[in-house]
Amino acid sequence: MNLTRVTDRIYYLPGDPETDAPFLYYIRGDNCSAAVDAGQSRAHVQAFYNAIREAGFPLPRYTLITHWHWDHTFGLPYVQGETFASVLTQQKLRAVAGWLWTPEAMAAREQSGEDIPFCTEHIRKAYPDLREIRVQPAETAISGTRVFDLGGVRVQAYARDSIHSRDALMLYVPEESALFAGDADCEDFYRGGEIDPARVEDYTRFVRSLPFRRYFLGHALPVGRPFVMGYLAGMRLRAAKPQLPML
Ligand SMILES: [Zn+2]
Ligand SMILES: [Zn+2]
Repeated sequence: MNLTRVTDRIYYLPGDPETDAPFLYYIRGDNCSAAVDAGQSRAHVQAFYNAIREAGFPLPRYTLITHWHWDHTFGLPYVQGETFASVLTQQKLRAVAGWLWTPEAMAAREQSGEDIPFCTEHIRKAYPDLREIRVQPAETAISGTRVFDLGGVRVQAYARDSIHSRDALMLYVPEESALFAGDADCEDFYRGGEIDPARVEDYTRFVRSLPFRRYFLGHALPVGRPFVMGYLAGMRLRAAKPQLPML
């Protein structure tokens, strides 16, 4: 599969709903480049790197992880260059590195709520042989903010809460007015699909504070600022809806 060009600086490998593979992004600087997310497996990283090579670009010097979920991180052992994730992502990945990947252990984690059926189901599709799963944290943890200068283009990384998970790394590229959100604006599926009003409020404030025009998602095509602000207004309404009592 080929890279899709968005601008001269931004490209992506599209995701795959079959295995819930996320979009992987390539940000091209004059001196070096960065990747957004490591993908879900060795095969996913290879497909991404083949597409980068075919486009005639160098492999990423930096790989920046948007959050801990398996589809964005299980490719980490196969990534070249330096890898970065938020402090909370690192903590979570260290815990997940100790998980067993047998059908019984996966079923037990679904029972305890540690993992969710949506993930285990797609992990099985991406990994016909579960013994191939390797989990490791990134090399370097980010707390607060950090800037990556790629030459002519910078990536500003913000480690912060999101609607979807507590450990988000939001990536803003000022030269391209581009914000990479991962899955940050989706429900929190590890808390029963919760939409917490305070988290929606905080996330909306953060996103609004950045003068982005292009917004890049984990599992969908890029959208523009008006779409994002409309979507977040909808999330606010859904979050504010009083929960009906169970009858
Ligand atoms: Zn996610
Ligand atoms: Zn995802």
